[in-house]
Amino acid sequence: MTRDALVATARLAKCNKVFAGGSRIGLAVDGTSAGHTGGSTSVCDLCRPQRDDKDVVIGHRHEVAAISVVGVGVSLPLDVEPYGPGDSELVAGQRLLRRCVSSLGARFADYVAADAKFACAPFLNLVQEVGLHAIVRLKKNLPDLFGRAQVRFNSRPPDQTFEHRGERVEIWDEGGFQPWEGLNWRQVRVIRYLQYRAGKTTIEAYWLTDYPMDEVSSQALFKMAKSRWEIENEGFNEAKTRHGMEHLPPRRQLGGGRLAADGAWHRDRAALPKPLPAPRHPPGEVGGRPGRHPEGSLSDAGCTTQADRPALPSAARALVVPRRQPD
Ligand SMILES: [Zn+2]
Repeated sequence: MTRDALVATARLAKCNKVFAGGSRIGLAVDGTSAGHTGGSTSVCDLCRPQRDDKDVVIGHRHEVAAISVVGVGVSLPLDVEPYGPGDSELVAGQRLLRRCVSSLGARFADYVAADAKFACAPFLNLVQEVGLHAIVRLKKNLPDLFGRAQVRFNSRPPDQTFEHRGERVEIWDEGGFQPWEGLNWRQVRVIRYLQYRAGKTTIEAYWLTDYPMDEVSSQALFKMAKSRWEIENEGFNEAKTRHGMEHLPPRRQLGGGRLAADGAWHRDRAALPKPLPAPRHPPGEVGGRPGRHPEGSLSDAGCTTQADRPALPSAARALVVPRRQPD
């Protein structure tokens, strides 16, 4: 399935009203890792080193920014953008968002949901530039805004209380926060919610948005914030198991185990977006030697041919591992 086909599917789903009626359509952007090798040297120019707590390189893996349609009852993965050393999830996410909105059309979606890594001016300005709203997790990486919101919300009882999947939720909601330097918004709105299960606080989270108070209710914002999780929870697994986007051959054909998965990922990595150079992996060695892919695996077969690549990294989807917990 090609990237264009996924975009076409998303547009068709919207036209045919597959998405839950009345819901705003979200695009969740998030980073995930895919593929892994225990080697101390990189295999290709997209390999990023993994370090232990003593800063020793313990392996390499690939990382991508991913985007999915969320918030509408079904989660639909759209695209991924890899980032290698010297690049970042944030910058890859911006490339991805720009590309996706230009394919989908500016009026396809209503908002972008993302975690706190994306709570920075370049990303939020881009969201606005492409005609969308943002709902992004607010944490201590924006200490000034976070601190101001804490002070305001701690000084009063919740603005609203409601039930969400049987759990009590208290929410605080306030607009009118000053944008920080570089952010082109007129003002920033912040919500905080506390979720309780059996009387205990299970989740406390802050989110920032540019949605005006009179356009979107606190509860609607809460749902949009929650929709971000769908990209990790459902998106790629759904794609693999229900929509036939998993094209990996049986594991035995790949040589088995982690390296097989790694090899498949390196193969499919080659199918990633245009700016990437085509990887040339060395003829394989099996058995976990650093920096090599299994012999006869698709990593060797697939990396060097441009013609018949799928436009989406199906193996990346298969190997995506959630990094974070729900918020
Ligand atoms: Zn690599």
